[in-house]
Amino acid sequence: MVPSVYDLDATQLATYLADEPRYRLDQVWRGVWEGALDLGSITTVPKALRERLARELPPALEVANDVTSDRGSTRKWVFRLHDGATIETVLMNYTDRVTVCVSSQAGCAMGCTFCATGQAGFTRQLSVGEVVEQVMFAAREAAPRRLSNVVFMGMGEPLANYRVTADVVRRLHEYRGLSARHLTVSTVGVAPAIERLADEGLPLTLAVSLHAANDATRDELVPLNRRYPLSRLYEACEKWLASTSRRLSFEWALIDGVNDTDQAMFELAHYARDLRAHVNLIPLNPTPGYLVRGSRPERVREFRDGLEELGINVTVRNTRGRSIDAACGQLAAVTNAHRSSVTLRAR
Ligand code: SAH
Ligand code: SF4
Repeated sequence: MVPSVYDLDATQLATYLADEPRYRLDQVWRGVWEGALDLGSITTVPKALRERLARELPPALEVANDVTSDRGSTRKWVFRLHDGATIETVLMNYTDRVTVCVSSQAGCAMGCTFCATGQAGFTRQLSVGEVVEQVMFAAREAAPRRLSNVVFMGMGEPLANYRVTADVVRRLHEYRGLSARHLTVSTVGVAPAIERLADEGLPLTLAVSLHAANDATRDELVPLNRRYPLSRLYEACEKWLASTSRRLSFEWALIDGVNDTDQAMFELAHYARDLRAHVNLIPLNPTPGYLVRGSRPERVREFRDGLEELGINVTVRNTRGRSIDAACGQLAAVTNAHRSSVTLRAR
């Protein structure tokens, strides 16, 4: 496979510049990492050189679809990769920050029932370059605003592609200057990988997709729970907290009659309390293969207020990008032409 420039570290990039003066490496490096420029646009280096580099290190991502919603503030791209696999990336412009949501795998093998990516199954792991390039593409499109946050909440389970996720986090931290507060990895709860993250001291914020705090319900929603049940996940979260002293958050997609009952609320409060976890409620977004509805807006508010009364720090995530299937859990990398054949929709 031909590498993307973002697959390379500085030593590897230097081999492409062996016949050039040393400062060229610095110029190219700054261009791609600080400037988020594509190689052909780094005007600090001579044209012939940038053209050669652009030829030898072609981009990993090709835009297959580009859609916008929320009056232009949310954009979603479907990218086609070199082997035809497709992934999705979402850019969200808020007043105080600009966030990109990246995919870590093409598809996902975890099979969570309510998630469009899980319903579509697994295609393959992404490479470091394929993940970083999503960030840099978004950074370019966000200009003149500066991309401030990266969340690993697109397609795939980042901790099932551990080495790549860890490398991308390290590089974005070191080469792009993003701090742990601005890098969030969301996991469905791969307990040993959470512990490994803690051991390696990676600079990131951890979000765990909990969705249920009793094993029977969680087994149904998140099949990985059968392998790493709630007690095992709890242990991993404790280790993470002990070694990082960073805030942990739990994501909870509110599903009508499934995990929005008062009992579910008490179970969640009990699980989250001693971990001092922040709870992020996500009103369930519709997906073609899961016909149970999201909780009604009044119930979302009641659930939030109830948790607050139980002493839990809680917020409700707004559902950006629903009209373009760019909201949480809706990413299946279907282009518009393809999508018209998907008629079984839950809204
Ligand atoms: N695999 C990782 C990261 C990608 S999913 C994980 O599961 O955490 C990002 C978030 O979207 C997760 O919290 C996931 O549970 C949530 N999600 C999945 N399907 C959803 C849906 N239909 N509605 C709302 N949130 C959903
Ligand atoms: Fe995979 Fe996350 Fe979707 Fe579950 S919710 S299927 S882990 S992307």
